[in-house]
Amino acid sequence: MPDDGKVPALGKALLDENQCLNAEGFACDTCVMFCPSDLQAITMKDPFPEIDQERCVGCGLCIFHCEASPKAITWQPLAEPSEPTTTKDTA
Ligand code: SF4
Ligand code: SF4
Repeated sequence: MPDDGKVPALGKALLDENQCLNAEGFACDTCVMFCPSDLQAITMKDPFPEIDQERCVGCGLCIFHCEASPKAITWQPLAEPSEPTTTKDTA
């Protein structure tokens, strides 16, 4: 963990407002309630939640608990996974 105590982000949550239940007139804020309280990366900006990309650490809790089907929030990795190295590669 870095010296500043912040959890390094592996990815970011992205909202598709068209998939959000609030676009259909439902009053949903489930994702806001499940974002870890000290992060508060999602807040309601009626009628949609808004994700603060600076605060989001990509934990995925909002995606897991999203009420919409398909999910209105998706996870985007910050970097492509690198190829695994083997002892054969490094020999
Ligand atoms: S991925 Fe985690 S930190 Fe980011 S908005 Fe969702 S619940 Fe909050
Ligand atoms: S849980 Fe899903 S459907 Fe509900 S407000 Fe959040 S993004 Fe929209």
